[in-house]
Amino acid sequence: MPTLKPGVVSGEDYFTLLKACKDGDYALPAVNVVGTNSINAVLEAAAQTGSDVIVQLSNGGAQYYAGKGLPDKDVAKVLGAVSAAQHVHLLAEHYGVCVVLHTDHANKALIPWVEALIGHSEEHHKAHGRPLFSSHMLDLSADPIEFNLGESARLLERMVKIGMSLEIELGVTGGEEDGVGHDIEEGADNAHLYTQPEDVLQAWQKLNPIGHFSLAASFGNVHGVYKPGNVKLRPEILDNSQKLVAEKCGTEARPLDLVFHGGSGSETSKIEEAVRYGVFKMNIDTDTQFAFASPVGAYVNENPTAFTHQLDPESGKPYKKVYDPRAWLRKGEEGMAARVVEAFEVLGSKGKSLARN
Ligand SMILES: [Zn+2]
Repeated sequence: MPTLKPGVVSGEDYFTLLKACKDGDYALPAVNVVGTNSINAVLEAAAQTGSDVIVQLSNGGAQYYAGKGLPDKDVAKVLGAVSAAQHVHLLAEHYGVCVVLHTDHANKALIPWVEALIGHSEEHHKAHGRPLFSSHMLDLSADPIEFNLGESARLLERMVKIGMSLEIELGVTGGEEDGVGHDIEEGADNAHLYTQPEDVLQAWQKLNPIGHFSLAASFGNVHGVYKPGNVKLRPEILDNSQKLVAEKCGTEARPLDLVFHGGSGSETSKIEEAVRYGVFKMNIDTDTQFAFASPVGAYVNENPTAFTHQLDPESGKPYKKVYDPRAWLRKGEEGMAARVVEAFEVLGSKGKSLARN
């Protein structure tokens, strides 16, 4: 088994990690984070179980990281992502695992956000010989495929020079995330929620000669947790895409590095099937948000007076230790970390870290 130095991985190290996932039939959770509490919870879960992990920021998460009070929202989206990445670069190696740094959906309007982040990675590469982020995601699935692949190729050409990868999307994932995404049409046939293998072949032929890319293919997956039954998961679409590319391009089996969006609330059997078909990354957000919020809610319910009074109204005893944000934010961190451990288990990546000192 290959080994890597603990810390943020990019370039060849990222590809080594990814290949180990596919060869070993397991995948890494890509957990959306919004601040140091959620980043540290993810790193804690990874360290505790000896698992490698993907830390991911949406544009909204990045803006939140910089602070909702920062007047220029576009600046906040860029600098928040940079700040979060620097936090992870500084700490990841001390948690003793490999960490991939990624950004989430960027539609057409957010191309300048991605380009600004690539600029920061170029600066970081000049200074440290590696990019700030391992990979970005460009989601132009709502636009014509020519535009989607043309822009993907343009950005990838710039990114390969500093050892970065690009995740693209073909076919749309239902549901919304930070205002990026698509409505689920109840009762409609939802054909656009399923990626066409022919489109996947076109993407491979255009992008593979340029550099490494990963692909979020839609197979009925949906962002968020909704009542079941609206959309049917069809992971065989992933298998069909892999087979078509392998056959037409004469590659080894499972040439595509696939990403599963909308992993929250999915059945374990469907997740396992998707991983067998070459999924190495599964995005998770909704479930980890709930895992953070739920124990905080329970804590407030158990100590209601401490959230309305600084002193116990009867005994006069100070509540300082109860309302100290560290007390209740820690409950959130613990809840989130436990949910990430569950994700490692379902994806088969628990204890499989490649990191060796
Ligand atoms: Zn997504």
